[in-house]
Amino acid sequence: MVQESFTLIAGPCSAESREQVLAAASGLKEAGLSYFRSGIWKPRTRPGAFEGVGHTGLPWLQEVQAKFGMKVCVEVAQPRHVEAALEAGIDMLWIGARTTANPFQVQEMADCLRGVDVPVAVKNPTQPDLALWSGAFERLAGAGIRQLSAVHRGFTVHGQKKYRNVPLWQIPIDFRSGHPEIPLLNDPSHITGKRGMVPDVAQMAMDLGFDGLMVEVHPDPDSAWTDAAQQVTPARFLDIIKGLETRVQGNGKGREDLSSLRAEIDMIDEGIVDLLARRMGISEEIGRYKRANGMTILQIARWNQILKQSKTSAVEQGLNPGFVEEVFKAIHQASISTQRMTLTDQED
Ligand code: PEP
Ligand code: MN
Repeated sequence: MVQESFTLIAGPCSAESREQVLAAASGLKEAGLSYFRSGIWKPRTRPGAFEGVGHTGLPWLQEVQAKFGMKVCVEVAQPRHVEAALEAGIDMLWIGARTTANPFQVQEMADCLRGVDVPVAVKNPTQPDLALWSGAFERLAGAGIRQLSAVHRGFTVHGQKKYRNVPLWQIPIDFRSGHPEIPLLNDPSHITGKRGMVPDVAQMAMDLGFDGLMVEVHPDPDSAWTDAAQQVTPARFLDIIKGLETRVQGNGKGREDLSSLRAEIDMIDEGIVDLLARRMGISEEIGRYKRANGMTILQIARWNQILKQSKTSAVEQGLNPGFVEEVFKAIHQASISTQRMTLTDQED
């Protein structure tokens, strides 16, 4: 179960009707939500898809506030959305991934919010661009908005099948290092695109010390007008939240053990860097040999052999071969760059 300070946001992807919004909110009234969510303006990737009920949905959300005493939030993508939401007394706004990717649009909304003390959450942009995400915060902070939070919802990666939006966990980790003061939430619904995977991603976010979750919850997920495959029922949401294991940031018991394990990790990491440096030195030498003998840098048969060998050893050592493949691809790329530099140096 999550702690009190944890930000919990849940509700349907889209508001479809008054009844559907109230049914979702009623199912979530015992969940201890920080905010009930519902999209009424939906920027869609392709034209022709349902783009939200618009202003019509605002009174439904006001009814959720009045009936269940819940705070509510909506996605805004244009100044006119911001104005309408503020006028309706919406408690929090969020900027969606497609909008964060557009600096002019973010700036227009920041200007429109100047002097208003409303919480604003900013989802990461669709592309894996940390500077673009940070830029949106700089624009909002520049307009005097203080109650900011970030939502990690994954990134578009062409050809990817497992996730709808690949989490690329290193990006939110880097975001956290650069902006330790901004609460960081995770949206497992848009990352996975599949309801069965939501608990695993939510647990990963807990393990990494995220400050909250935004989850899509619908009274009848299969009939949802948008994002049907990733939404869960209110009952399932409550189960998922109950099943999450919480972790402490550090100073709990067992800290002594942790420091000796960390010392061991530090030694191993140093060893890894040493080995990489030695490997790269040999690679440079090979680069000079290839040049002297007019050989291409990429020797595909040799590369296939390295990959096969390392994946076989990975399996023998109980490691995930996919992980080891990624590591070796990165090493190989660096090795190719080094060999190209070796060629250029000699040509100079
Ligand atoms: C949403 O939250 O329904 C949504 C459209 O999300 P994103 O901006 O992350 O795609
Ligand atoms: Mn959605």
